[in-house]
Amino acid sequence: MLTNNEENGLGDKPREKCGVFGVFGVPNAAQLAYFGLHTLQHRGQEGAGIAVSDGEGLHCTKGKGLVLEVFNQSDIDALKGSNSIGHIRYSTCGGDEWENIQPIVARANRGSLAVAHNGQIVNAQPLRDELENMGHLFHTSSDSAIILHLIQGGAGNLMEKLQSACARLEGAFAFLILTPKSLYAIRDRHGLRPLAIATLENGWCAASETCAFDAVGAKFLRNVEPGEILKFSRTGMESRFYTQQTEHRLCAMEYVYFAREDSSIDGKNVHLARRRTGELLARTDCKTLKADLVVGVPDSSLPAAMGYSEASGIPYGMGLIKNRYVGRTFIEPTQEQRDLAVRMKLSANSSVVQGKRIVLIDDSIVRGTTSRRIIRLLREAGASQVHLRVASPPILYPCFYGVDISSRKELISAGMDPQALCRYLGADSLRFLSVEQLREAYGEAGYCFSCFTGDYLTPLYGHRAD
Ligand code: SF4
Repeated sequence: MLTNNEENGLGDKPREKCGVFGVFGVPNAAQLAYFGLHTLQHRGQEGAGIAVSDGEGLHCTKGKGLVLEVFNQSDIDALKGSNSIGHIRYSTCGGDEWENIQPIVARANRGSLAVAHNGQIVNAQPLRDELENMGHLFHTSSDSAIILHLIQGGAGNLMEKLQSACARLEGAFAFLILTPKSLYAIRDRHGLRPLAIATLENGWCAASETCAFDAVGAKFLRNVEPGEILKFSRTGMESRFYTQQTEHRLCAMEYVYFAREDSSIDGKNVHLARRRTGELLARTDCKTLKADLVVGVPDSSLPAAMGYSEASGIPYGMGLIKNRYVGRTFIEPTQEQRDLAVRMKLSANSSVVQGKRIVLIDDSIVRGTTSRRIIRLLREAGASQVHLRVASPPILYPCFYGVDISSRKELISAGMDPQALCRYLGADSLRFLSVEQLREAYGEAGYCFSCFTGDYLTPLYGHRAD
């Protein structure tokens, strides 16, 4: 079966771990969670789940597949309650077994909890070893369950337990935690993964991306701050920090590729940030590159292509067309079938590219296989030259913060210099955005660039970056 990215025709794009969505104090909590998750579907397609609380207990439905496949209307109707959290999953850590689909629900005499997590706990293994040595039993291989076990061993009220549990976690986490009477939204001390809150007519909403607020009619209020724990209950919203050692370092790949264009993360609109990267690519090229047409790889590279076109004066054209209706069950074990998968998903528009010198804009290169096929498609459609411009720096190091870039071996830029890579891809020229330009495009707020620089934000606890 095609993985999600292969299904997208973009088999070598990095994949986000997950998306989370929650509401508190509304009459139709499960229905809103369903709509919210549907809007966040681009962040994970392997599984989905919704947990609701009715003020007394927790009820959860989850399964493998897309939101549309996991839930029907009777499932949603059966989830009665005014508070809910939802999760859509792509597994970067732990397998894709049913037990790892979230929310994970822990039922205990002292109260039930459901947890939905976006990110990756980098010190999961040592914490798990420690907890297992103390007698804790894990029912899932997911790193997300660790917080439940840390809470279980903690002292004080739930807010205090959460503060001490989060202080022990290193890495990336945006958690939504549901109890029968409250909802918690938590962001790691670097703010690696996005999490924002909004108001509803009679309640609250929290989501990985602001586009989900628009889908349910919620009004954006603010971002959850790095290191912050927000509690929503019948008495309102309460904010605490689990650490004072905070530093804003949002994952740069959220703007490069993951997030939806109509989302704003930490105050910056994704479409505009991508567009700016294209402008900066054009600025470097302006005196040296002669071309007839700018073409973007749909969909996430189109804003950068528009920005390049505008800044360079070279016309923008729809040289690649995406077929949105390719199914998910396409078998593609061989090279020929992978090529066919790209052809089914992307077509070069020969009437547009014939005889043209093309500037092809892609947002990122991981393994290089898809870029190579796309360049071949454009040449077969009659393009006379293809100059590839990448709207992010070369990805040289693995990610341990919730993105499936797990080893240097799979990263083509780590094994080839740009000249060799240009030849391998079959491009006439190749240039990447630099880390400095990415910083310029995204503005002052701090970002994680670890997969570009190898400069990690945390100790790696035995994970290998080489
Ligand atoms: S290493 Fe790269 S993909 Fe991972 S969080 Fe940092 S910027 Fe994002």
